[in-house]
Amino acid sequence: MIAPLVETSSDVTISQALATVRSDIAEAVRASGREPSAVTLVAVSKGHDADEAAQAIAAGQRVFGENRVQEAQGKWPPLRAAHADLELHLIGPLQTNKVREAVALFDVIQSLDRARLADALAAEMDKQAKRPRLFVQVNTGEEVQKAGVLPAEAAAFVRWCRDEKKLPVVGLMCIPPVDEEAALHFALLRELAEDAGVTQLSMGMSADFALGVRLGATHVRVGTAIFGERHYPPKA
Ligand SMILES: *Cc1c(COP(=O)(O)O)cnc(C)c1O
Repeated sequence: MIAPLVETSSDVTISQALATVRSDIAEAVRASGREPSAVTLVAVSKGHDADEAAQAIAAGQRVFGENRVQEAQGKWPPLRAAHADLELHLIGPLQTNKVREAVALFDVIQSLDRARLADALAAEMDKQAKRPRLFVQVNTGEEVQKAGVLPAEAAAFVRWCRDEKKLPVVGLMCIPPVDEEAALHFALLRELAEDAGVTQLSMGMSADFALGVRLGATHVRVGTAIFGERHYPPKA
């Protein structure tokens, strides 16, 4: 029999795939001379249902990422009720009309990318007395279709968010252009974080998370390598 070219989620269980990703991260973090605890694996469960997320939870995973507020609302409240120690990250674009739901549901919002959103988050955090940690998304490739502040504006935007808006910005996030060397973008993000005075770096996805870790990532966002191909439209 001819071996399949692409491994699908039916060939490898979520728990096995998680173990592989974790060991790849451990190897890369050792190579970067840091402690394993310096890197947080954000398991990206978008496009996968609550049963699949539950399999990852059963395998010990506690930090998850979703890119749509509505999809996350349909999936996570029961899982959170059953597991008090879960941490949920919003990694996709946030519309200002979804800020209330996002502040209520997420522990971390990685996609702060504009002043109007900063204003809305500041007001909503005061109202709910809940303060999710924030990453500023940087459009390192300066792509017109991609969200994020421009590299030249990143440090000033972070300072304005922290100093004027009193927002808990902890780091920067980027999604490199698909057709470019990710390493250049990861190195740029790290430089920009130093300029901005923040220490957390969310960079690296299924294809390049080990590279991200070697270049200093504190958070990697890994979906397909853990859960397999996404089901669209989402089953959840
Ligand atoms: C979907 C998504 C990921 C995960 O992508 P994979 O290639 O499946 O690992 C990471 N970050 C963001 C912002 C995403 O939207």
